[in-house]
Amino acid sequence: MTADMKIVPPGSTIGIVGGGQLGRMIGMAAVQLGYRVHIFAPEESGPAADIASGWTHAPYEDDVALTGFAEAVDVITYEFENVPSSAVALLAKLGHVRPNARTLGTAQDRLLEKSFVAGIDGRTAPYAPVSSRAELEDAVARIGTPAILKTTRFGYDGKGQVRLMDDAPETLDHAWAEIGCNPAVLEGFVQFEYEFSVILVRGQDGAVRFWDSPHNVHVDGILSTSTVPAPESVQALVPEARAIAARVAQALDYVGVLTLEFFAGAAGPIFNEMAPRVHNSGHWTIEGAVTSQFENHVRAVCGLPLGSTALVVPAVSMQNLIGDQANDWESILADESAHLHLYGKHEARAGRKMGHVTRLHLGGVGA
Ligand code: AMP
Repeated sequence: MTADMKIVPPGSTIGIVGGGQLGRMIGMAAVQLGYRVHIFAPEESGPAADIASGWTHAPYEDDVALTGFAEAVDVITYEFENVPSSAVALLAKLGHVRPNARTLGTAQDRLLEKSFVAGIDGRTAPYAPVSSRAELEDAVARIGTPAILKTTRFGYDGKGQVRLMDDAPETLDHAWAEIGCNPAVLEGFVQFEYEFSVILVRGQDGAVRFWDSPHNVHVDGILSTSTVPAPESVQALVPEARAIAARVAQALDYVGVLTLEFFAGAAGPIFNEMAPRVHNSGHWTIEGAVTSQFENHVRAVCGLPLGSTALVVPAVSMQNLIGDQANDWESILADESAHLHLYGKHEARAGRKMGHVTRLHLGGVGA
């Protein structure tokens, strides 16, 4: 056992930073294994409140609250990566934080993330840093259009992004204003047929397991569906994508579930972004795999043996329920193979992830 290995036995308390649906589903897996769950969140409540026995409601800048949280739990993990580095550093000083602070720092910043993955021989879309309107002009001259301007930090579900279809000065003015004149990265537009993700879990002993890679469809920048098995042309790229993901996990000495999103490019997998956590494209593993991403995340973080990631049926599909789609729960449940998950959110705002539905296809895709 290395110095950093720590077994956290069932009966202990797992601290989760963030109280959204990912915290709720990590927490449900943790509770099933006999753990208690304590959430730290800047919000007063959230989807994870229904399963947590403790909830610290405080801003990330509140060192006293962070210290109290760290003292109340036996291990700390995240459902959300956009936590200020000062809070992560303090938690890392006070307790066992998994995944580690370096990983969070890398995944929080699109530029760092891309250069890190490029540095371990992962292919990315062409990109250039943009920290001013003048730099945007230089970047467009280099990368060309169409292109996507993305803020380096705090972007998710297509937020903090704008597409540039041409290099007219007004287009650049509008794009720069649209992202709030924040530090950004300009990415060349990738021509791809499919998007897919690699979801892995790495234990404290360095052992890595992969779930089947789902084919992901996004609508308006938000994940809509994830399906396994992915089309054959995607499956052909999975070994290379897995090798990249494993190198990332090893280089970061990662512990827990890690997700990398890729475009299926003509010449191979093109890395888009990574999430140092359980991921929406892995929700199907709750019913579709022997061990879900949530349970294996808990097992890894607590130093328990990892469970099998094998599929339990030939095919599985997951559909997100966005906004008022969640109101259709009655017709969803009319399908006997459907597993409905609702996150307990009270207000069905447009674009908000309210739940998801997983369907097990006993006879393969379409069955
Ligand atoms: P992201 O937040 O980076 O995952 O972007 C959200 C979605 O926008 C992706 O899943 C893609 O569907 C699309 N997208 C992002 N970057 C690119 C790109 N460089 N080329 C083409 N499509 C992209």
